[in-house]
Amino acid sequence: KFITLEGVEGVGKSTNLQFVTDWLRERDIPFVQTREPGGTPLAEQLRELLLAKREEAVDPTAELLMVFAARAQHLAQVIKPALARGDWVICDRFTDATYAYQGGGRELDRGLIAQLEQTVQGDLRPDKVLLLDLDPEVGLQRAANTGAADRFESEQLAFFQRVRAAYCARAEANPAGYAVIDAGRPLEQVQQQLRQQLEQLI
Ligand code: C5P
Repeated sequence: KFITLEGVEGVGKSTNLQFVTDWLRERDIPFVQTREPGGTPLAEQLRELLLAKREEAVDPTAELLMVFAARAQHLAQVIKPALARGDWVICDRFTDATYAYQGGGRELDRGLIAQLEQTVQGDLRPDKVLLLDLDPEVGLQRAANTGAADRFESEQLAFFQRVRAAYCARAEANPAGYAVIDAGRPLEQVQQQLRQQLEQLI
């Protein structure tokens, strides 16, 4: 199974990722935990380039191509081999983040993203996208408290609202592929929902 975890900054992705991997470990289900952008040495280098604060404005199409370059490497080196072995893959962000951040946030053409998706992934898609949904205003406040700092932190609220809207639109268009979880609720309830989703997958 190929499971991805998505959401805007501050939704509790790290905590809930830990919950998912603990759940798998308890059941002795072999899995690989990885992340995007990143997941291989080369892709992690691309991530650093992508997130670094810099004077030079980053062209949105350049950003998009870097994300997919990292993804191609990650698929070849990590994700496809793991799925071929029968391991589960738990990935912190994947192509939905590209539709959300580069499509929604940067307002790049979704058709272009879909073309790159097809080229890089073929027919490979996550079996389930766990979407932690939260008002970005709340999420950004939470994220500010954890001191996360990268090139995206300087974006305005409107950017993250477009990101959220793009995530939600994708979930609405394909309800079977997504579990939308209200990340504003107490952690216990969020994890109850995650558990239900995981149980349905085995
Ligand atoms: O998941 P994490 O918060 O570590 O992601 C790092 C940063 O990369 C986030 O600020 C996110 O906004 C950004 N990102 C992006 N486009 C992607 C994936 C991540 O802008 N496709």
